[in-house]
Amino acid sequence: MAIATLLIANRGEIAVRIVRAARELGIRTVQAHSAADADSLAVQLADAAIEIGPAPASKSYLDIGAILAAAREAGADAIHPGYGFLAENAAFAAAVEEAGIVFVGPSAATIRRMGDKVAAREAAMEAGVPVVPGSRGRLESVEAARGILAETGYPVLIKAAAGGGGRGIRIAHDEHEFDRLFHQAGAEAKAAFGDGGLYVEKAIPRARHVEVQLLGDGERVVHCFERECSLQRRRQKVWEEAPAIGLDPAVREQLCAAAVRLAEAVRYRGAGTVEFLYDEDGGDFFFIEMNTRIQVEHPVTECVTGIDLIAEMLAIAGGAPLSLRQEQIALSGHAIEVRINAEDPANGFMPFPGLVSDLRVPGGPGVRFDSLLYPGYAIPPFYDSLLGKLIVWAEDRPRALARLSRALGELRIEGVKTTAPLHLALAADPEVRAARYHTRWLEGWLETNATKLGSEEEGAG
Ligand code: ADP
Ligand code: ADP
Ligand code: MG
Repeated sequence: MAIATLLIANRGEIAVRIVRAARELGIRTVQAHSAADADSLAVQLADAAIEIGPAPASKSYLDIGAILAAAREAGADAIHPGYGFLAENAAFAAAVEEAGIVFVGPSAATIRRMGDKVAAREAAMEAGVPVVPGSRGRLESVEAARGILAETGYPVLIKAAAGGGGRGIRIAHDEHEFDRLFHQAGAEAKAAFGDGGLYVEKAIPRARHVEVQLLGDGERVVHCFERECSLQRRRQKVWEEAPAIGLDPAVREQLCAAAVRLAEAVRYRGAGTVEFLYDEDGGDFFFIEMNTRIQVEHPVTECVTGIDLIAEMLAIAGGAPLSLRQEQIALSGHAIEVRINAEDPANGFMPFPGLVSDLRVPGGPGVRFDSLLYPGYAIPPFYDSLLGKLIVWAEDRPRALARLSRALGELRIEGVKTTAPLHLALAADPEVRAARYHTRWLEGWLETNATKLGSEEEGAG
C-alpha cells in the first residue's frame, strides 16, 4: 500500500530533502518539530506541522512517545526518521511497527543486528566480508583484550558498539594507554549512547574511506556504486565524492559485491550503506560498519547514478518491490559534496549559530544546494551545526573541482561564520586536486593551514 501521509521525524536539511521527494510522489507531508524549529524551512515547505516538544532533542526529536502521538494526530501511515536522532534506534522502529505505522527503513530486527557495530562485524564475517582485524564480541575487561591485542599490535582503536557520527572512538598507542582509555571509553559510551559495549580494531594507517550505497526490498539488493569520504575531521566526514578516486575497476567490483552479499545475508530492506577502509598500498579493503539509514552524503550518488534515493526509500516502504535491476544502474561523471557547517574554521571550528542576515545561493549547470537556510533565518543553537550541502556534478573530477570553486565563490551566507572558506581552500589545494589523501590527512593539513582560513567575508563581493 503506497504511503499517503508521511510524518517526518527529523529536522534541518534532511527534513527539507524528504519533503521535496514526498511532494513529487504525491505524498502528503507532516513535519514533526520542536518549539525551536517552528520557523524552519521544513515546517514552511511541508503540508502541515505538529510541535512535539521543547528545544532539547531529548524532549522532542528523541521522544518516541511524542513522535508516535504526532503520527496518530497527523493520520500518518509512515514515518521517515532521516539520519541521526532515532534513525538507527531499534526500539523506535519496533514502536512504530507496533503502532501499525510503516517505518521508512529496515525492520527493527535488522537495525538491532546491523546498527550494533559488534554484531555487524559478526554478520560481515559470516557473509565472508573482510573485517578489520580485532576482537570478536564485546570486550568485558582489559584482561579479555590481552589476547587480541597481542595479534593486532599497536596502535589500536577502542570503539563503542553503539557509536556513531565519529564519536566513541579512541586510539591507544601502548598497553599503558590502552588500560587507561578502556575504562574511560566504557563509562563515556554508557553516558553518550546508553550502552557501554566496547570492541577493538587494529588502526589502519593511511587508509581511504570508501562506502557502498545499497537499496534492498527484503528480497533483492542492488548497489549504487561507491562514495569516497576520506576528508574527515575528528572522524567525521567534511567532503565526499562519487565515484571513489582512482579505484581499480576490479577492486570496485569486489567491494560492491561484498556489500551486496552482506545486505543479502540479512535480507536488507531500504537504503543502507556499508562502510569500508581501503588500504591502497596493499589493495585490501576492510568492513568497518553498516549505516541502516540514509546518509548525509547520499546526493553525490544521486548525481552520478540519476537515482532519487529518498524516492526509492519511500517506494520500498510503501511495499513496492525494488524497481531497479543492477544492470540498469550506471555511473556517469563525477560529483563532490561539501558540508557547510555553522562553525568558524579559523577558530577551532567553534559552533556559530545566529541570524542569517542575507543569503546568496549558487546555481547554474551541475550545482545543487541542499540546505535549511533562507534569508532572515535564525540558526538555533541546540542542534548539529550542519546548515546544508553544496553538491556539484561534472563530466570528470577536474571539471567538478572547477565547478565547486566557482559555486563556492557564489555562495554568500551573511551573519554567521561557516566552513565554506575551508572548502574553497581545499578545492585549490594541490594534494586534494591530486587526490593524495587518507582519513588522517585533513587533520594534518588543518594544523598548518587553519589560521590562514582567515575571517574575511566568504564568497565574491
Ligand atoms: P553519515 O554517516 O551520514 O555520513 P554522520 O556520521 O555525520 O553522517 O552522521 C549523521 C548525523 O547523525 C550526524 O548529525 C551525527 O552526529 C548523527 N549520528 C550518527 N550516528 C549517531 C549515533 N549513533 N548517535 C548519535 N548521533 C549519531
Ligand atoms: P562511526 O560509527 O562514528 O561513523 P566508523 O567505525 O564508521 O565510526 O569510523 C569513523 C571513521 O574513523 C572512519 O571513516 C575512519 O576514518 C576512522 N576509523 C574507523 N575505524 C578505523 C580503523 N580500524 N583504522 C583506522 N581508522 C579507522
Ligand atoms: Mg561510520
